[in-house]
Amino acid sequence: MVGSAVTFARIGMTCEPIVVEADLKRGLPGISVTGMLSQEAKEARERITPAITNSGFDFPAKKITINFSPAETPKMGTHYDLAMAVSILRNQEDLNIPEKSVFFGELSLGGDVKWVRGLLPLAVEAWKQGYEKIYIPYENRHELFCIPQDKIVPVRHLSDIIEETSVEVENKVEFNETKNVLPGDFSDIKGQDNLIFYFLLASAGNHHMLVVGPPGTGKTMCASRLPGIMPDLTPEEVIAVNMIYSIASQSSSHSQWISNRPFRSPHSNSSMRALIGGGPKILPGEISLAHKGILFLDEFLEFHSDVLQALRTVLERKEVFLSMRNGASVYPADFLLIAAANPCPCGYYETDGICRCTMHDVVRYRRKLQNPLTDRIDIQIQTDCVKYRTLNTYSKYSSAEMKLLVEHLRKKQAIRYTNENFYLNSDIPADKIRQYCPLTFEAEKLLEKIMDEQILSARGCHKILRLARTLADFKDEEVISESNIRRASQMRCLDISL
Ligand SMILES: [Zn+2]
Repeated sequence: MVGSAVTFARIGMTCEPIVVEADLKRGLPGISVTGMLSQEAKEARERITPAITNSGFDFPAKKITINFSPAETPKMGTHYDLAMAVSILRNQEDLNIPEKSVFFGELSLGGDVKWVRGLLPLAVEAWKQGYEKIYIPYENRHELFCIPQDKIVPVRHLSDIIEETSVEVENKVEFNETKNVLPGDFSDIKGQDNLIFYFLLASAGNHHMLVVGPPGTGKTMCASRLPGIMPDLTPEEVIAVNMIYSIASQSSSHSQWISNRPFRSPHSNSSMRALIGGGPKILPGEISLAHKGILFLDEFLEFHSDVLQALRTVLERKEVFLSMRNGASVYPADFLLIAAANPCPCGYYETDGICRCTMHDVVRYRRKLQNPLTDRIDIQIQTDCVKYRTLNTYSKYSSAEMKLLVEHLRKKQAIRYTNENFYLNSDIPADKIRQYCPLTFEAEKLLEKIMDEQILSARGCHKILRLARTLADFKDEEVISESNIRRASQMRCLDISL
């Protein structure tokens, strides 16, 4: 006799159903498992016997073979325990479980069903594939906000599976929502109207930005306020973001429901694995945790060159491919990059009497700024110390007003690119630039002059055009004017040598 139960396996963000079959034969009692299991999944074999007997069931004194199919799919994680136990129990008990059920959960030796990592993508896929009941650990119940609650059966103990009375379906679940924890408002920032405009521009067209300036000029303050002026996440984006956090969370106390755009600010000493992702469990890194939000790299030049090189590919593909010894995973990483750097090694270049760097130091330092990653950054601006006379002038706009403007400009872009597979100015591909960035005669002449004088590459020219497109959108102009080209070209401080 063969009892079976269904669970799912996850590789990166992709999940597929796995059928667990338990075959019981006469012979020397013991359990053997087959089907490409990772070490932690294989260890379930040791947990199953005590978990079943300590839950009040008789454990069959037989030779048990448990097979996971399809065998070629790698199976990582500890959520297979519950499906294994159910497949064994189905050989001898008449379990009152709907036919189309799916099981996720790790078992303790006492039979408790314990929290598992990355449940959200698994459960969402099971729900999409039409499973009627999704059995999950009680501790994971906060994660499954987006799935109809009547589909979910949170279980605390293995015995809950057959004792119907103790299986309760929670209709009202309290979520550890992290909304409204934005760090502040743009109206709090003093004397930095120009800088604030650049941040507004970056979020309107989703242009990556590098801010070069002395410490204390509000770079970090502005960057941390960006999630407050960007459009709210769409329901699909909310699910995508939460799936990544579900996979990355360390314990049930870390699981939370995120509804704001993420803001990640990793330290420059962070390892490649922490930033890009990977490790034995192939977990997402900071770049994926910033998906649909902001990745802020302060002290940009302190990051290891390998990391910057990897980020260059990520910016192009908007996802990261992690290939490890035990498999390969793809995680999304579509974020707005804001990088900040000092203008010289000491940080106070051109600030009277403070900078002690020699011209040679500064030139060498600037050369480091022109790395392959900055080549992908649309806006490159220099900001100065706040002048005393402007110290008491607050920003003209509040975050709420800026958000309205950004939403208006994004909607305009979405309409313009209705028939395209992109929807933001920063994503206009090279072959469509001329179509979507028409120029006036004067603008064309000026662009030609700039290209000749500054020896701009075609890529540099395209960046100016994409930025000018967003600047023209601010003024509600369909054809890009000379002033937009001039302004956009001024935001390329690194293309111009000292
Ligand atoms: Zn200096």
